[in-house]
Amino acid sequence: MGFLTLQSLSKVYGELAAVADVDLSVAKGEFVSLLGPSGCGKTTTLQMIAGLVEPSGGKITLDGRDITHEKPSKRGLGIVFQSYALFPHMTVAENVAFGLEMRKVAKAERDRRVKEMLALVHLAALADRYPRQLSGGQRQRVAIARALVISPPVLLLDEPLSNLDAKLREEMQFELRRIQRSVGTTTIMVTHDQAEALSISDRVVVMEQGRMTQIDAPYRLYERPATAFISSFVGKMNRIEGVWRRNGASGTAEVAGLVLPSEIVDFADGAAVALSLRPEKIVLKAPGQGVTDGRIVNRFFLGSYWLFNVETAIGLIAVSVPNHGDEPAGEGEAVSLDWAPASLKVSALHAAAG
Ligand code: ATP
Repeated sequence: MGFLTLQSLSKVYGELAAVADVDLSVAKGEFVSLLGPSGCGKTTTLQMIAGLVEPSGGKITLDGRDITHEKPSKRGLGIVFQSYALFPHMTVAENVAFGLEMRKVAKAERDRRVKEMLALVHLAALADRYPRQLSGGQRQRVAIARALVISPPVLLLDEPLSNLDAKLREEMQFELRRIQRSVGTTTIMVTHDQAEALSISDRVVVMEQGRMTQIDAPYRLYERPATAFISSFVGKMNRIEGVWRRNGASGTAEVAGLVLPSEIVDFADGAAVALSLRPEKIVLKAPGQGVTDGRIVNRFFLGSYWLFNVETAIGLIAVSVPNHGDEPAGEGEAVSLDWAPASLKVSALHAAAG
């Protein structure tokens, strides 16, 4: 059994099942993200774990103990909200010491732990500053230190980086992961940012309309999205509708009469299929050299790679090509798209549409 488990956990508001029957088992020391669009039930799930929202049904256990109806203070979890909620009239050190004072930890021990925490989040030099004298990223680190200083069994983070600008946000993602690794605290983070979830987490839980539709390691989520929603939400994906032509034990995917190299699946002849192809799995070649020819509609330079939209017989296809320092083909040019068969994933159209 996991360190933290949710069993058939649900929350109903009137007619709305905000969280519907979710099951999740988190191992000790694991970093798990709850990812999904606005309103899918991430925050409600986190708040039930924290004890701030009473579940309508189901069970939560922590280290084998049933905490479903336990008071938040008794659970003793660390929580960091989007708004940080630092005490404005207290210094950085006082903010971090607060939880220890509440727990009546002796002064010498308190000072030692605050110092250790501030060193961990790289804020030792700013211990005597007030929150208003800090940058957004620094405030965020104080909030994390304050939550971790009590050595909580679980750290809960609700969109902890969403108030930061893009560059700082990326830096803090690495910071968060480094801090979590060094203390080893089991962590659950709510985010609607797929790149953030993929880069920080051991596992990502995707939520759609109150349900957990996939729980997987980041690379598996990216390579094997379980639903059409996930394939479009996590990374960029070309989606093409086609027909499966079965011949003997094998078969081929066809779109507009064109046979596309793909993985081999076991579908009936004539079955409608959804084909998924990541932009980075496609190679641009000279016309006539690839699977299908096309014309570049537009081209964007994104620093480490170029993104092309290419009009072809199978639709408008996005292609990304690493930047090697020279200028690639431009708008209006004729090209051909090629890919390895294993890169084109095939799923049943009805399942993919769900
Ligand atoms: P966001 O990213 O926007 O915070 P979320 O995935 O965290 O979204 P929740 O806040 O968990 O979503 O909300 C899930 C659903 O439950 C939403 O439809 C929301 O309107 C509804 N909901 C949340 N809290 C309440 C409440 N106290 N009363 C009624 N409905 C609520």
